[in-house]
Amino acid sequence: MLTQSLEPVFSPDDLIPPPINNNGLTGRDIISVSQFDRDKLSYIFGRAREMRDMVNCIGGAGLLKGRVLTCLFYEPSTRTSSSFIAAMERLGGSVIPITQGVQFSSISKGETLADTVRTLEQYSDVIVLRHPEEGAAQTAADYAAIPVINAGDGPGEHPTQALLDLFTIREELGRVDSLKVAMVGDLRYGRTVHSLTRLLLQYDVSLRFVSPEILRLPLTIMNQVIDAGLNVRETHDVADVIENADVLYVTRVQKERFNDLAQYEEVRDQYEITPDLMARAKAKMIVMHPLPRVGEIHYAVDQDPRAAYFRQVRNGMYIRMALLAAVLGRA
Ligand code: ASP
Repeated sequence: MLTQSLEPVFSPDDLIPPPINNNGLTGRDIISVSQFDRDKLSYIFGRAREMRDMVNCIGGAGLLKGRVLTCLFYEPSTRTSSSFIAAMERLGGSVIPITQGVQFSSISKGETLADTVRTLEQYSDVIVLRHPEEGAAQTAADYAAIPVINAGDGPGEHPTQALLDLFTIREELGRVDSLKVAMVGDLRYGRTVHSLTRLLLQYDVSLRFVSPEILRLPLTIMNQVIDAGLNVRETHDVADVIENADVLYVTRVQKERFNDLAQYEEVRDQYEITPDLMARAKAKMIVMHPLPRVGEIHYAVDQDPRAAYFRQVRNGMYIRMALLAAVLGRA
């Protein structure tokens, strides 16, 4: 016998999303930063700030209740995968995590990416994909009817990292225009550098690229910087940029992209950001890193209030909450 009234399992609100004018993001794949103009960026950043306030106040919400994300990672990840999982769960959704287990899935039996995504879209509402091949996210998006979010395609792009990087610059320094941004390390294979540089083309910034000769920024991206009319210089020496930089964006040398490991050994330890170097930097500037670091930033720098890399990590969750809610038509 029924002794208490049952709550309705769902309300019409759960079935019919409110009409949302979110700059056309509902249902969209997120493949490249070229999809984001300044209006879209400010829309996402506004939603990310709301997510931050909501998390700090009540921890989570039910905005994505009943929605399922597949996290499909063919390359290692700590921050990107776990921040997408945290983002989905804080919004009340759930996750199919294929992040550690690709070797246990049918991918190891030789299943194609196309078949894998066409299978996973039967269970989920959005796929986050990391893959070693440039262009793989676009291929997956071509086959999947649900949104695909590029979480890194080889040395290509890492658009959600660039969004969180730009958001961090904006929140830490209060603006993006007129800043001097120095990128240091592996500019050739570092996909986060490629995406962030392309996003910064929309702003009036000065760019400094610091790398060993063999790890210079790819020519196609450098040409885009020149065509955008930005003030740009390249150097091998971080000492040339430390005094004027507002943002020092440090990256690791991407060992996994080298065919010749002897070449990697030659350039691996070229840059190390130390407290002595930081003593020459501006009082108001920030040091960023997409992480993981493998020696490029000395641990003693972590105590410096200008070290923004762990705050940058946290911003990743807010940006990914905003993006997931947007592509799923809930923000
Ligand atoms: N985590 C970043 C990426 O996946 C940076 C790195 O791996 O060095 O691209």
